[in-house]
Amino acid sequence: MKTPSRLMAFCIAIFAVALIWATWSAPAVVAENPAPSRPEQALIDELVLANRMLASDELGFLDAFGHVSVRSRSNPNHYYIARSVSPGIVTANDIIENDLDSKPVSGERNDQYQDRFIHGEIYKARPDVMAVVHSRTPELAAFGVSSVPLRVGDNTVPIFDIRTVNNGRSGIVGTAALAHSLAASLGNRNAILLLGHGAVVAGPSIYNLIDSAHGLRRAAQRQQQLIGLGGQWDSNPLRVAPNAPPPAAVQRPMVPTGTGGGTEALERIWEYWKQVVTPLITGPNKLPHADHVPRQADGPDQAIIDDLVYANRILSYKGLGILDALGHVSVRDPRNPNHYFIARYLSAAFVTANDITENDLDSKPVAGPRSDQFQEIYMHGEIYKARPDVMAIVHAHTPEIVVFTESSVTMRPVINGGMFMGERLPIHDVRKFDPREILIRTPELGRSVAMVLANRPAVLLKGHGYALTGSSLHDVVARAYQLRMNAKVQEQAIALGGKVTYLEQPEEAPLPGRTAVPAKSSSDVQDDPAWEYWKQLVVAK
Ligand SMILES: [Zn+2]
Ligand SMILES: [Zn+2]
Repeated sequence: MKTPSRLMAFCIAIFAVALIWATWSAPAVVAENPAPSRPEQALIDELVLANRMLASDELGFLDAFGHVSVRSRSNPNHYYIARSVSPGIVTANDIIENDLDSKPVSGERNDQYQDRFIHGEIYKARPDVMAVVHSRTPELAAFGVSSVPLRVGDNTVPIFDIRTVNNGRSGIVGTAALAHSLAASLGNRNAILLLGHGAVVAGPSIYNLIDSAHGLRRAAQRQQQLIGLGGQWDSNPLRVAPNAPPPAAVQRPMVPTGTGGGTEALERIWEYWKQVVTPLITGPNKLPHADHVPRQADGPDQAIIDDLVYANRILSYKGLGILDALGHVSVRDPRNPNHYFIARYLSAAFVTANDITENDLDSKPVAGPRSDQFQEIYMHGEIYKARPDVMAIVHAHTPEIVVFTESSVTMRPVINGGMFMGERLPIHDVRKFDPREILIRTPELGRSVAMVLANRPAVLLKGHGYALTGSSLHDVVARAYQLRMNAKVQEQAIALGGKVTYLEQPEEAPLPGRTAVPAKSSSDVQDDPAWEYWKQLVVAK
């Protein structure tokens, strides 16, 4: 009778070693200060991976905002979601457990996305849904404002028009009641477009969700390309007879292992994307540190100079595509409103703290004359003179926006983030002020730009670019991003060939994912997920 118990002890020992090994070799998706392991740590780790995958260049589904959640397996009345952090930099420490009212189980907190209710309300309405993603993917946003339906096979993806349940106003799905309406519009489908906003995809597993999100974006891109071809379109060329049994080859069993659940094919696709994003998570720590940015020995306000360097790098980051080699960004000195900071004549991508000049509002360097300033610098000083409310300015030649200055088509809001521009932006035609000139290189022309701008947030420069204002550097960078995104979505929506719905709302709408509070000071960036994300992108390059 001794042998079986010895065998059992041996088995237990083997099991214990295996358990320790499994724990020790678990995927390291926690970047720093790993939190103690939670009961559903494997699921949380997969949610982190899903965030990174959806934000990767490979999938391109989520930008700096957007969010993805997964329902708890042990308690179907709870779900996991990241706090207000850009999906591309989410770690396990950022994951919150919510109930289906989208309230954190661990007590109140103020660092959640405003439109998180989408997740809770869909989980309430749809017991079959185990994972949800909400995105602002431009291709999907374009279909969201077009009369041309987005087709996936024989089906049409519905559009949730928030105006019908929000007193005619567009905006984000920022309340449980609005999210409840969205869930009702979704019905038993797995995807819906949000007018002026983006899309929501739901899935029976997180693996399935990634695949569906990817498939939805690809369907939109393919349909755009087919419309471009101009011929007849068979929307479902591989259609099989209804009720035909699937061929034996696709009757793969569900894979019991793995926490995501799904078919073998889905598990393989997940594994592939996991390989793509894992180096981004477990590689050398890419968090920005002060020593990445060379510092001035005795700068006037180091935090604001550092932010200006970051703004230069972010705006010229290829993935954002806002500044070319010649654009510039400035910030008013918060301690002396009659001065502003701007880089010397240098491409924004190369700017360091040592390249920052302090100018007066005549755009003359405070430290004495110098010959290495941008020619078009006068826009900055003259706008700061005319507009005491303006704290930061971007001048850019962003191609997606320039085309609207050369066309009879007006740039108008098609996404919530573009609402700040109002109904339309004024256009400055330099030839009306100086027939020989094409650039803004005199104080007089700078004044003419400020005059046409008047009290608007931005002015388009005909055949040239734009000047954009903000209440802070973070604000002006976010606006530059939104302005380009709006131009892209509008151009794509028009190219679809149907009728385009433009957003109309008199007052400025808050940016999705951001709270409506006034802009923060340069040192307080905790609730500005996009800025933190973009900062890390430029430091990692
Ligand atoms: Zn220019
Ligand atoms: Zn949203």
